[in-house]
Amino acid sequence: MTHSPGNWNTEVTMTSQPLVFPAPRRGMPPRHLADLSLKERIEAVTALGEKPMRARQLSQHYFGRLSVDAPGMTDIPVSARDRLTREMLPPLLSPVRQVSCDDGATSKTLWRAHDGTLLESVVMRYPDRATVCVSSQAGCGMACPFCATGQGGLTRNLSTAEIADQVRAAAATVRDGGIGPPGRLSNVVFMGMGEPLANYQRTVDAVRRICDPVPGGFGISQRGVTVSTVGLIHAIRKLADEGLSVTLAVSLHAPDDELRNELVPVNTRWKVAEVLAAARYYADRTGRRVSVEYALIRDVNDQPWRADLLGSLLHRALGPLVHVNVIPLNPTPGSKWDASPRVAQEEFVRRVAAAGVPCTVRDTRGREIAAACGQLAAQDR
Ligand code: SAH
Repeated sequence: MTHSPGNWNTEVTMTSQPLVFPAPRRGMPPRHLADLSLKERIEAVTALGEKPMRARQLSQHYFGRLSVDAPGMTDIPVSARDRLTREMLPPLLSPVRQVSCDDGATSKTLWRAHDGTLLESVVMRYPDRATVCVSSQAGCGMACPFCATGQGGLTRNLSTAEIADQVRAAAATVRDGGIGPPGRLSNVVFMGMGEPLANYQRTVDAVRRICDPVPGGFGISQRGVTVSTVGLIHAIRKLADEGLSVTLAVSLHAPDDELRNELVPVNTRWKVAEVLAAARYYADRTGRRVSVEYALIRDVNDQPWRADLLGSLLHRALGPLVHVNVIPLNPTPGSKWDASPRVAQEEFVRRVAAAGVPCTVRDTRGREIAAACGQLAAQDR
Protein backbone atom coordinates (compact mmCIF):
# COMPACT_ATOMS: atom_id res chain seq x y z
CA MET A 1 0.00 0.00 0.00
CA THR A 2 1.25 3.48 -0.71
CA HIS A 3 0.45 6.71 1.06
CA SER A 4 0.71 10.15 -0.39
CA PRO A 5 2.79 12.73 1.46
CA GLY A 6 -0.42 14.61 2.18
CA ASN A 7 -1.64 11.78 4.40
CA TRP A 8 0.37 12.86 7.35
CA ASN A 9 -2.17 14.16 9.77
CA THR A 10 -0.81 13.56 13.24
CA GLU A 11 -0.98 16.83 15.11
CA VAL A 12 1.99 18.39 16.77
CA THR A 13 0.89 18.03 20.35
CA MET A 14 3.55 19.91 22.26
CA THR A 15 3.74 23.65 22.76
CA SER A 16 5.51 25.01 19.73
CA GLN A 17 8.68 26.90 20.35
CA PRO A 18 10.26 29.58 18.15
CA LEU A 19 13.53 28.86 16.35
CA VAL A 20 16.33 30.66 18.17
CA PHE A 21 19.79 31.11 16.64
CA PRO A 22 21.76 33.69 18.65
CA ALA A 23 22.06 32.57 22.25
CA PRO A 24 21.50 34.99 25.12
CA ARG A 25 24.85 36.51 26.10
CA ARG A 26 24.41 36.25 29.87
CA GLY A 27 26.20 33.89 32.17
CA MET A 28 29.30 32.80 30.26
CA PRO A 29 31.89 31.45 32.69
CA PRO A 30 35.34 32.89 33.48
CA ARG A 31 38.24 32.00 31.22
CA HIS A 32 39.64 28.53 31.78
CA LEU A 33 42.73 26.63 30.66
CA ALA A 34 40.59 24.45 28.37
CA ASP A 35 39.31 27.50 26.48
CA LEU A 36 42.83 28.10 25.22
CA SER A 37 45.24 26.43 22.83
CA LEU A 38 48.59 25.40 24.29
CA LYS A 39 50.17 28.53 22.81
CA GLU A 40 47.48 30.79 24.31
CA ARG A 41 47.95 29.05 27.68
CA ILE A 42 51.63 29.95 27.65
CA GLU A 43 50.73 33.57 26.92
CA ALA A 44 48.12 33.61 29.69
CA VAL A 45 50.48 32.12 32.27
CA THR A 46 53.21 34.57 31.29
CA ALA A 47 50.75 37.46 31.60
CA LEU A 48 50.16 36.31 35.18
CA GLY A 49 53.88 36.70 35.80
CA GLU A 50 54.51 32.96 35.98
CA LYS A 51 57.03 30.86 34.08
CA PRO A 52 55.90 29.70 30.62
CA MET A 53 56.61 26.07 31.58
CA ARG A 54 53.73 26.26 34.09
CA ALA A 55 51.28 26.17 31.16
CA ARG A 56 52.53 22.77 30.17
CA GLN A 57 52.49 21.50 33.74
CA LEU A 58 48.93 22.68 34.33
CA SER A 59 47.90 21.18 31.01
CA GLN A 60 49.49 17.88 31.95
CA HIS A 61 47.44 17.82 35.15
CA TYR A 62 44.19 18.79 33.46
CA PHE A 63 44.35 16.90 30.17
CA GLY A 64 46.74 14.10 31.11
CA ARG A 65 45.91 13.30 34.73
CA LEU A 66 42.34 14.63 34.38
CA SER A 67 42.84 16.48 37.64
CA VAL A 68 41.95 19.97 38.87
CA ASP A 69 43.12 19.25 42.39
CA ALA A 70 45.64 21.95 43.36
CA PRO A 71 47.32 20.08 46.26
CA GLY A 72 48.14 17.21 43.89
CA MET A 73 50.15 19.51 41.59
CA THR A 74 53.35 18.97 43.52
CA ASP A 75 55.59 19.91 40.59
CA ILE A 76 54.39 23.53 40.90
CA PRO A 77 55.53 25.59 43.95
CA VAL A 78 52.68 26.26 46.39
CA SER A 79 52.55 30.02 45.88
CA ALA A 80 52.30 29.71 42.09
CA ARG A 81 49.95 26.75 42.36
CA ASP A 82 47.22 28.63 44.18
CA ARG A 83 47.38 31.58 41.87
CA LEU A 84 47.51 29.47 38.71
CA THR A 85 44.65 27.20 39.68
CA ARG A 86 42.54 30.21 40.71
CA GLU A 87 43.20 32.02 37.43
CA MET A 88 43.45 29.15 34.99
CA LEU A 89 41.25 26.45 36.47
CA PRO A 90 38.20 28.19 37.92
CA PRO A 91 35.58 25.58 38.87
CA LEU A 92 33.10 25.31 35.99
CA LEU A 93 30.72 22.44 36.63
CA SER A 94 29.62 20.90 39.89
CA PRO A 95 27.65 17.66 39.94
CA VAL A 96 24.12 18.06 41.27
CA ARG A 97 22.85 14.54 40.78
CA GLN A 98 23.92 11.30 39.19
CA VAL A 99 21.62 8.48 38.11
CA SER A 100 22.48 5.22 36.44
CA CYS A 101 20.83 2.24 34.78
CA ASP A 102 21.71 -0.75 32.57
CA ASP A 103 23.38 -2.36 35.60
CA GLY A 104 25.54 0.68 36.04
CA ALA A 105 26.72 0.80 32.42
CA THR A 106 24.86 4.06 31.67
CA SER A 107 25.18 7.06 33.91
CA LYS A 108 23.70 10.53 33.59
CA THR A 109 25.05 13.54 35.48
CA LEU A 110 23.20 16.78 36.06
CA TRP A 111 25.70 19.64 36.30
CA ARG A 112 25.34 23.13 37.67
CA ALA A 113 27.48 25.80 36.01
CA HIS A 114 28.92 28.86 37.81
CA ASP A 115 25.83 30.94 37.07
CA GLY A 116 23.35 28.25 38.14
CA THR A 117 22.69 27.04 34.60
CA LEU A 118 21.89 23.32 34.45
CA LEU A 119 23.05 20.84 31.86
CA GLU A 120 23.45 17.09 31.51
CA SER A 121 25.91 14.59 30.12
CA VAL A 122 25.68 10.81 29.79
CA VAL A 123 28.43 8.18 29.96
CA MET A 124 27.87 4.79 28.37
CA ARG A 125 30.12 1.78 28.85
CA TYR A 126 30.16 -0.96 26.21
CA PRO A 127 32.30 -4.11 26.21
CA ASP A 128 34.73 -2.61 23.70
CA ARG A 129 34.42 1.14 24.24
CA ALA A 130 33.21 3.96 26.44
CA THR A 131 31.29 6.95 25.14
CA VAL A 132 30.34 10.29 26.63
CA CYS A 133 27.41 12.21 25.20
CA VAL A 134 28.10 15.89 25.86
CA SER A 135 25.98 19.02 25.80
CA SER A 136 27.12 21.95 23.66
CA GLN A 137 24.45 24.37 24.86
CA ALA A 138 22.26 24.63 27.94
CA GLY A 139 18.90 23.96 26.35
CA CYS A 140 18.40 24.23 22.59
CA GLY A 141 16.93 26.77 20.19
CA MET A 142 16.04 24.35 17.40
CA ALA A 143 12.52 23.63 18.71
CA CYS A 144 12.08 20.06 17.44
CA PRO A 145 8.65 19.05 18.80
CA PHE A 146 9.61 15.46 19.71
CA CYS A 147 12.69 16.45 21.72
CA ALA A 148 12.48 17.46 25.38
CA THR A 149 15.54 19.71 25.10
CA GLY A 150 14.09 21.49 22.06
CA GLN A 151 10.84 22.04 23.90
CA GLY A 152 12.61 23.69 26.82
CA GLY A 153 14.20 26.46 24.75
CA LEU A 154 17.73 27.82 24.79
CA THR A 155 19.35 29.09 27.99
CA ARG A 156 22.85 29.85 26.75
CA ASN A 157 25.86 28.53 24.88
CA LEU A 158 28.39 26.48 26.80
CA SER A 159 31.98 27.63 26.71
CA THR A 160 34.68 25.47 25.14
CA ALA A 161 35.93 24.59 28.61
CA GLU A 162 32.44 23.71 29.86
CA ILE A 163 32.23 21.19 27.03
CA ALA A 164 35.77 19.93 27.67
CA ASP A 165 35.10 19.59 31.39
CA GLN A 166 32.23 17.16 30.72
CA VAL A 167 34.77 15.07 28.80
CA ARG A 168 37.34 15.31 31.59
CA ALA A 169 34.83 14.15 34.17
CA ALA A 170 33.73 11.25 31.99
CA ALA A 171 37.30 10.21 31.18
CA ALA A 172 38.13 10.19 34.90
CA THR A 173 35.03 8.13 35.70
CA VAL A 174 35.89 5.54 33.05
CA ARG A 175 39.56 5.41 34.08
CA ASP A 176 38.71 4.99 37.75
CA GLY A 177 36.26 2.14 37.22
CA GLY A 178 33.27 4.34 38.09
CA ILE A 179 31.34 2.79 35.24
CA GLY A 180 32.30 -0.86 34.73
CA PRO A 181 35.88 -2.06 34.67
CA PRO A 182 38.56 0.65 34.51
CA GLY A 183 39.20 1.68 30.92
CA ARG A 184 39.72 4.54 28.57
CA LEU A 185 37.15 6.98 27.22
CA SER A 186 37.18 6.26 23.48
CA ASN A 187 34.24 8.19 22.05
CA VAL A 188 32.71 11.63 22.43
CA VAL A 189 29.38 12.40 20.79
CA PHE A 190 27.92 15.92 20.62
CA MET A 191 24.43 14.54 21.06
CA GLY A 192 23.48 15.92 24.44
CA MET A 193 21.67 19.19 24.93
CA GLY A 194 21.97 21.82 22.26
CA GLU A 195 22.79 22.32 18.61
CA PRO A 196 26.58 22.17 18.41
CA LEU A 197 26.79 23.98 15.08
CA ALA A 198 24.79 26.91 16.50
CA ASN A 199 27.68 27.28 18.98
CA TYR A 200 30.16 26.75 16.19
CA GLN A 201 33.51 28.13 17.27
CA ARG A 202 33.30 26.78 20.82
CA THR A 203 32.31 23.38 19.49
CA VAL A 204 35.22 23.26 17.05
CA ASP A 205 37.64 24.43 19.74
CA ALA A 206 36.25 21.77 22.07
CA VAL A 207 36.85 19.14 19.38
CA ARG A 208 40.48 20.27 19.24
CA ARG A 209 40.82 20.07 23.03
CA ILE A 210 39.29 16.59 22.92
CA CYS A 211 41.55 15.32 20.15
CA ASP A 212 44.86 17.14 20.47
CA PRO A 213 47.49 14.94 22.08
CA VAL A 214 48.28 15.45 25.77
CA PRO A 215 49.13 18.05 27.03
CA GLY A 216 47.33 20.11 24.35
CA GLY A 217 44.17 18.05 24.77
CA PHE A 218 42.84 14.69 25.93
CA GLY A 219 44.27 12.76 22.98
CA ILE A 220 41.04 11.03 21.96
CA SER A 221 41.05 9.91 18.32
CA GLN A 222 39.10 12.17 15.92
CA ARG A 223 37.52 9.03 14.57
CA GLY A 224 35.89 8.57 17.94
CA VAL A 225 34.19 11.96 17.86
CA THR A 226 30.76 12.64 16.34
CA VAL A 227 29.17 16.06 15.87
CA SER A 228 25.42 15.89 15.36
CA THR A 229 23.38 18.65 13.73
CA VAL A 230 19.83 19.49 12.67
CA GLY A 231 21.38 20.59 9.36
CA LEU A 232 22.84 24.10 9.58
CA ILE A 233 24.23 23.93 6.08
CA HIS A 234 26.74 26.79 6.20
CA ALA A 235 28.22 25.45 9.39
CA ILE A 236 28.42 21.92 7.95
CA ARG A 237 30.44 23.25 5.03
CA LYS A 238 32.66 25.26 7.33
CA LEU A 239 33.25 22.22 9.51
CA ALA A 240 34.19 20.25 6.41
CA ASP A 241 36.96 22.78 5.76
CA GLU A 242 38.45 22.61 9.28
CA GLY A 243 40.76 19.74 8.40
CA LEU A 244 39.22 17.47 11.04
CA SER A 245 38.14 13.89 10.56
CA VAL A 246 35.28 13.66 12.99
CA THR A 247 32.01 11.97 12.05
CA LEU A 248 29.14 14.21 11.05
CA ALA A 249 25.66 13.07 12.05
CA VAL A 250 22.65 14.73 10.45
CA SER A 251 19.30 14.54 12.21
CA LEU A 252 17.05 14.07 9.20
CA HIS A 253 13.92 12.32 10.55
CA ALA A 254 11.99 12.76 7.31
CA PRO A 255 12.94 12.50 3.62
CA ASP A 256 10.34 15.05 2.46
CA ASP A 257 10.20 18.76 3.22
CA GLU A 258 6.54 18.73 4.12
CA LEU A 259 7.03 16.48 7.13
CA ARG A 260 10.54 17.67 7.98
CA ASN A 261 9.27 21.25 8.26
CA GLU A 262 7.20 20.00 11.21
CA LEU A 263 9.67 17.63 12.84
CA VAL A 264 12.81 19.72 12.42
CA PRO A 265 11.61 23.34 12.15
CA VAL A 266 14.96 24.60 10.83
CA ASN A 267 13.96 22.79 7.63
CA THR A 268 11.82 25.81 6.84
CA ARG A 269 15.14 27.59 6.19
CA TRP A 270 17.26 24.83 4.70
CA LYS A 271 15.53 22.07 2.82
CA VAL A 272 16.31 18.36 2.74
CA ALA A 273 18.09 18.68 -0.63
CA GLU A 274 20.32 21.47 0.70
CA VAL A 275 21.14 19.52 3.85
CA LEU A 276 22.08 16.46 1.81
CA ALA A 277 24.23 18.56 -0.53
CA ALA A 278 26.09 19.95 2.48
CA ALA A 279 26.46 16.42 3.89
CA ARG A 280 27.88 15.31 0.54
CA TYR A 281 30.38 18.15 0.66
CA TYR A 282 31.37 17.06 4.16
CA ALA A 283 31.82 13.44 3.07
CA ASP A 284 33.85 14.44 0.01
CA ARG A 285 36.13 16.78 1.94
CA THR A 286 36.76 14.46 4.86
CA GLY A 287 36.35 11.02 3.32
CA ARG A 288 34.14 10.22 6.30
CA ARG A 289 30.83 8.46 5.98
CA VAL A 290 27.98 10.67 7.22
CA SER A 291 25.49 9.27 9.73
CA VAL A 292 21.86 10.08 9.15
CA GLU A 293 19.72 10.00 12.31
CA TYR A 294 16.10 9.00 11.94
CA ALA A 295 13.90 8.86 15.06
CA LEU A 296 11.14 6.49 14.06
CA ILE A 297 7.70 7.75 15.11
CA ARG A 298 4.61 5.60 14.78
CA ASP A 299 2.33 6.71 11.93
CA VAL A 300 4.29 9.92 11.54
CA ASN A 301 7.49 9.11 9.62
CA ASP A 302 7.56 5.31 9.53
CA GLN A 303 5.56 4.60 6.35
CA PRO A 304 7.05 2.19 3.80
CA TRP A 305 6.94 4.86 1.10
CA ARG A 306 9.02 7.16 3.29
CA ALA A 307 11.57 4.39 3.80
CA ASP A 308 11.79 3.95 0.03
CA LEU A 309 12.09 7.68 -0.51
CA LEU A 310 14.75 8.00 2.20
CA GLY A 311 16.76 5.13 0.72
CA SER A 312 16.66 6.41 -2.86
CA LEU A 313 17.36 10.00 -1.84
CA LEU A 314 20.36 9.09 0.28
CA HIS A 315 21.70 6.67 -2.26
CA ARG A 316 21.56 9.35 -4.92
CA ALA A 317 23.01 12.11 -2.73
CA LEU A 318 25.72 10.20 -0.90
CA GLY A 319 26.26 6.80 -2.54
CA PRO A 320 28.43 4.70 -0.24
CA LEU A 321 29.21 7.66 2.04
CA VAL A 322 26.17 7.34 4.28
CA HIS A 323 24.79 5.17 7.01
CA VAL A 324 21.33 5.46 8.59
CA ASN A 325 20.81 5.13 12.32
CA VAL A 326 17.20 4.47 13.16
CA ILE A 327 16.37 5.56 16.72
CA PRO A 328 13.15 4.20 18.19
CA LEU A 329 11.43 7.36 19.48
CA ASN A 330 12.06 7.90 23.16
CA PRO A 331 9.15 9.20 25.20
CA THR A 332 9.24 12.85 26.28
CA PRO A 333 6.90 14.63 28.71
CA GLY A 334 3.68 15.83 27.11
CA SER A 335 4.25 14.06 23.79
CA LYS A 336 1.54 11.83 22.38
CA TRP A 337 3.96 10.34 19.92
CA ASP A 338 5.23 6.80 20.19
CA ALA A 339 7.95 4.63 18.81
CA SER A 340 6.94 2.55 15.81
CA PRO A 341 5.86 -1.04 16.36
CA ARG A 342 8.62 -3.55 15.86
CA VAL A 343 7.30 -4.88 12.54
CA ALA A 344 7.06 -1.38 11.09
CA GLN A 345 10.59 -0.66 12.27
CA GLU A 346 11.94 -3.85 10.72
CA GLU A 347 10.20 -3.15 7.42
CA PHE A 348 11.54 0.41 7.44
CA VAL A 349 15.12 -0.77 7.96
CA ARG A 350 14.72 -3.47 5.31
CA ARG A 351 13.53 -0.98 2.71
CA VAL A 352 16.27 1.55 3.36
CA ALA A 353 18.87 -1.21 3.16
CA ALA A 354 17.29 -2.51 -0.04
CA ALA A 355 18.04 0.88 -1.62
CA GLY A 356 21.73 0.19 -0.98
CA VAL A 357 22.05 2.30 2.15
CA PRO A 358 23.40 0.61 5.30
CA CYS A 359 20.80 1.01 8.02
CA THR A 360 20.90 -0.09 11.63
CA VAL A 361 18.77 0.45 14.71
CA ARG A 362 20.58 2.33 17.43
CA ASP A 363 20.71 0.59 20.76
CA THR A 364 19.44 3.48 22.82
CA ARG A 365 20.58 3.60 26.37
CA GLY A 366 19.20 5.30 29.41
CA ARG A 367 15.50 5.55 28.59
CA GLU A 368 14.38 4.78 32.15
CA ILE A 369 16.53 7.54 33.61
CA ALA A 370 15.54 10.09 30.94
CA ALA A 371 19.08 9.95 29.60
CA ALA A 372 18.30 8.74 26.08
CA CYS A 373 18.28 10.74 22.83
CA GLY A 374 15.96 13.70 23.12
CA GLN A 375 15.22 13.26 26.81
CA LEU A 376 17.75 15.62 28.38
CA ALA A 377 15.86 18.40 30.12
CA ALA A 378 18.23 19.17 33.03
CA GLN A 379 15.55 19.62 35.62
CA ASP A 380 16.65 20.03 39.20
CA ARG A 381 14.08 17.88 40.91
N1 SAH B 1 20.88 19.28 17.97
C1 SAH B 1 21.69 18.20 17.48
C2 SAH B 1 22.32 17.42 18.60
C3 SAH B 1 21.33 16.62 19.45
S1 SAH B 1 21.61 14.97 19.08
C4 SAH B 1 20.85 17.33 16.58
O1 SAH B 1 19.66 17.47 16.56
O2 SAH B 1 21.43 16.53 15.86
C5 SAH B 1 20.22 14.22 19.70
C6 SAH B 1 19.63 13.25 18.70
O3 SAH B 1 18.49 12.65 19.28
C7 SAH B 1 19.16 13.97 17.45
O4 SAH B 1 19.32 13.15 16.34
C8 SAH B 1 17.70 14.15 17.79
O5 SAH B 1 16.92 14.39 16.65
C9 SAH B 1 17.38 12.84 18.46
N2 SAH B 1 16.17 12.89 19.27
C10 SAH B 1 15.60 13.98 19.82
N3 SAH B 1 14.49 13.64 20.49
C11 SAH B 1 14.36 12.30 20.38
C12 SAH B 1 13.43 11.38 20.88
N4 SAH B 1 12.39 11.75 21.62
N5 SAH B 1 13.62 10.08 20.57
C13 SAH B 1 14.67 9.68 19.82
N6 SAH B 1 15.59 10.53 19.33
C14 SAH B 1 15.44 11.82 19.60
